[in-house]
Amino acid sequence: MYILISNVGSTSLKFKLYRMPEEEVLCEAKIEKIGSTDGIYHYKNDINGRTHGEESTPLKTYAAGINMFLSDLCDKELGAIDSVNKVQAIGFKTVISKGFNGTVELDDRVMQGMKDYLFIAPVHNAAYISAIEQFRGILPETPMVGVFETSFHRTIPLENRLYPLPYEWFEKYGLAKNGYHGASFTYVSGEARRDGDYKKIIGCHLGGSSSICAIKDGKSFDSSFGFSLQTGLPHANRSGDADPYVVPFLEDQGMSFEEIREGLDKKGGLLGISGVSNDLREIEEAANAGNERAQLAIDVFVTDIVRYIGAFYAEMGGMDKLVFTGGIGENSSLIRRLVCERIGHLGIELDAQKNEKTRGNGIISAEASKVKVQVIAANEELGIARETFRCLKEKEK
Ligand code: AMP
Repeated sequence: MYILISNVGSTSLKFKLYRMPEEEVLCEAKIEKIGSTDGIYHYKNDINGRTHGEESTPLKTYAAGINMFLSDLCDKELGAIDSVNKVQAIGFKTVISKGFNGTVELDDRVMQGMKDYLFIAPVHNAAYISAIEQFRGILPETPMVGVFETSFHRTIPLENRLYPLPYEWFEKYGLAKNGYHGASFTYVSGEARRDGDYKKIIGCHLGGSSSICAIKDGKSFDSSFGFSLQTGLPHANRSGDADPYVVPFLEDQGMSFEEIREGLDKKGGLLGISGVSNDLREIEEAANAGNERAQLAIDVFVTDIVRYIGAFYAEMGGMDKLVFTGGIGENSSLIRRLVCERIGHLGIELDAQKNEKTRGNGIISAEASKVKVQVIAANEELGIARETFRCLKEKEK
């Protein structure tokens, strides 16, 4: 069975075509800077190794990126299949839909639920709605499956999820912690327990979006993400935790709701503090060159990571493995070192050389370290492919 997996970002699209249940990747593509005239496109056929790359191509809409990929997918030389009709399902790493959770077929009701929750995931839901609608137009008969980012966190006990707000708001609006990055932590939870039966894992997914998850007995026990995606750690552009009363205060100061929202959604996070970039590579470079606000952004980021690790350590009554994943977690030896230096007293000793060298996968703690520290390359797509396959098999029954 051929299953296409689509990971939609605010300005990016990633694809992987799997043969299931063999879990074999046949081809993949990464499309960046959608909405601009200098988009980046990378395609690779994983069977014959052929590639197609464009460094500055007009990619005004999601449709343009999707069509470019579909054309390569079925191309004589580059293609992995000869007709797009051979794709039996498309799985999406969807974020949140009102009234739906877990893995569900993306029918009109689920799509409506995503629209209803545009308010809590404005950037992500808008991008998914647009991409899914494009695919529905191109492949109207192909089942589309959404694997929602919140589903891994359904196991978080209520006392870890509930906010100290009027209880009726929880009953009426579901105002409680949702947790996100479910596809990533499902994968991390499985991979991290391959070399031992770790009961208390703390996973740090650090990237454009960042969150920390306490994984107890393989299940989510707590998450730094709250009700919306504007919570927890600082993200690339989105604020993390901030006092909720900043909103009425700024309104009282004369700012419009739209201006405040723009600050929280687009002008906050690492970009907001550094004033340099939303990309950690550029922030690290600027800090090295002596930019004080760039250094401050790194310091705030590290402190917030340390604070959540400490909180989850206390909540779980310990930690036997610490995991780094996501673009920053996999690649930034600086952030990993700064975090681990600050939590040495929790039983962590880093192997400095291994940490420096590791990109993607590896153990980076010293032999003597009480707590193992592991870097795991994020593979959200595989989790989505497994879930989509399971959903289709269940439908066949
Ligand atoms: P993601 O959203 O998981 O793709 O992660 C994107 C983030 O990873 C961006 O902030 C990048 O700057 C960061 N990143 C990727 N490679 C590196 C690197 N070598 N050093 C530091 N940060 C990196």
